[in-house]
Amino acid sequence: MFQLFEVGLSSYIAAQQANAMKDVYFPLGDKGKDVNLLVPLAFIVGDNQGGDGIAGRAAVYNETARRICRSCNATIAAYDTIESDSCVPLNMADIIAMVTNQDWPGLRSLHQAPCWNPFFDVCYGGNPGGIFTAACPAEALHALENGLFLHSLKAVLGGCLKPQEIVLLDASIQSWTKLPRQRLIRSSNFSHSPRLLFKDGISTLTKLPAATKVGMMFALVVAAVTRDGKYAFRKLSDDSYTDILYAFEQCLCYWAWLKKDYHWNPNDAVAHQTTKDAIAEMLCNLMKCVPRVTGRGWHIPKLHEQLHVADTILLFGSHKNVHTGPAEHNHIELSKKPAGRTQMRKDTFDWQVSNRLVDKYVVDLALEYMKEGSDTVLPVPIAVRAVPLLPHNTVYFQLLIAPVDGQLHVLDISITNPKKEEIMMPPMYVLQHLVKTCYPLFERNLNPNGITLQCFTELYLNDTIVRSNPSFDKDGSWFDFVEVCLYDTDNEPYKTSARVVLMYYMPTKPEERFVVVHPAFQFSQTHSVLTTFFRMQYVDDPFDIIDDMNVVDFDTEAFVLDDDNFQPLPEPRLITIDSNSIVEHTLMLPYHPCSKFMVGVRSQSDWANEFLNTD
Ligand SMILES: [Zn+2]
Repeated sequence: MFQLFEVGLSSYIAAQQANAMKDVYFPLGDKGKDVNLLVPLAFIVGDNQGGDGIAGRAAVYNETARRICRSCNATIAAYDTIESDSCVPLNMADIIAMVTNQDWPGLRSLHQAPCWNPFFDVCYGGNPGGIFTAACPAEALHALENGLFLHSLKAVLGGCLKPQEIVLLDASIQSWTKLPRQRLIRSSNFSHSPRLLFKDGISTLTKLPAATKVGMMFALVVAAVTRDGKYAFRKLSDDSYTDILYAFEQCLCYWAWLKKDYHWNPNDAVAHQTTKDAIAEMLCNLMKCVPRVTGRGWHIPKLHEQLHVADTILLFGSHKNVHTGPAEHNHIELSKKPAGRTQMRKDTFDWQVSNRLVDKYVVDLALEYMKEGSDTVLPVPIAVRAVPLLPHNTVYFQLLIAPVDGQLHVLDISITNPKKEEIMMPPMYVLQHLVKTCYPLFERNLNPNGITLQCFTELYLNDTIVRSNPSFDKDGSWFDFVEVCLYDTDNEPYKTSARVVLMYYMPTKPEERFVVVHPAFQFSQTHSVLTTFFRMQYVDDPFDIIDDMNVVDFDTEAFVLDDDNFQPLPEPRLITIDSNSIVEHTLMLPYHPCSKFMVGVRSQSDWANEFLNTD
């Protein structure tokens, strides 16, 4: 292997010698300059086994390993001491000295190849760790998704929980796929968010893409908070249930934190130490709270490697820089897909793959040019006009509220195009609310022929869309949950969550949009790191629940949950708000099918700060 490396590296090492690349014209954008170029090796992206091969560490990972990590001197004893600075990074000069002095026992004790490594000749820009730091730095996201997340999921599903209990957890996760859609529930709407909807539940753990494991962890955390999902944990003590939930949430927050572009100021030594300690604490919690009894338990190099992540970030910046995901994905784009468009004949295969690849580059480049062009031609839809536009795919329908035969107390409500739009007709309690708000009895003589409401299904909210559509697509309805700004009885503003029920404007005043929402009460209860309980308002509720001891336990300031309710819910209490009172989308899931409570899930953009805020 080292002989192959030697050949592969020879031209690179030659190019790193003094003045080897003198007066090279170096263009950047539309400017260029003659420079004396030196290209040091920062890091190589790859997996653990590849990294060990490059660094010359024997690929031994079990309990007999004399060294467990290619970049430091940690032995198996380090498995039990998960704390920051418990190991010392290797210095390449030391190892080179051992090789030149033929210190074979010393190298053997480190599981280190007893020969010259061609990577010793490479320039690392002054990094003392040399190849031991550069060879595939601990790639936390991969190690988390495919390593620690998978192990934790296995420890819980099939470890702490038995099959009949996992069925309960699955049922509660599967029930979400039957709910009306809301924007934040489908991860396909956001490139980096974990999936929450699993039609087949989360009990199958084999052959899954890495991202799915994050989704399963997320779904498990949210389901464990619901009544029926929590029931799956009933055989565990309250403490172990809380421990598992907490450890999983911390893992998810750490995962989100790793995806940040910027972590801390590189000159801030305190922030660096804080980060190292926070990671170590998170790992200790995971080991303690999620017991892993199979295999070697938590005695795995992937756990130790996470301790190096803070140093890796200090050296190489945002963790996304060393993420192997994109490189692995390239393999699909650059090899697998072009190969699929060949005749698969041995003698023409390489030629055809490379031709298809060139075609792909040409098409991709052309597409880039076209995208640039179209940006300048098309106007941005949120136009600066007197009446802001509604999204292009919004559906319009009119509701006509009119007295029957001139009798002002008898009303008929109809939809203008009943055949096509019948499905858009709101339920009776919504119509009653509309009549009360828009056409109250004492005002009817002003419009004796009735009024028309122009309803619509979509509304811009910053660069997103709020939607309330009873028939969005083949999967059925879509009703978003949003955070709204309301005013209490003292006219003080407060924010709470609400479900969007209907949106409309008066044909004479199209710029004033109204949104009928089903709100939660002002008081909410933070339940775990990622979840909050909201109590939705119903017609049989008092106007404030904070004084109602049936709903709020004064001693603990916690909700008294309606676990025992199996009756259908009463009608929601609706309010109409100005569309400008909507703040942002939220994600809400029912506590159980007949519950007045909902579980609000913290926005993913907040997760990272829950782990650590070093900005
Ligand atoms: Zn180490």
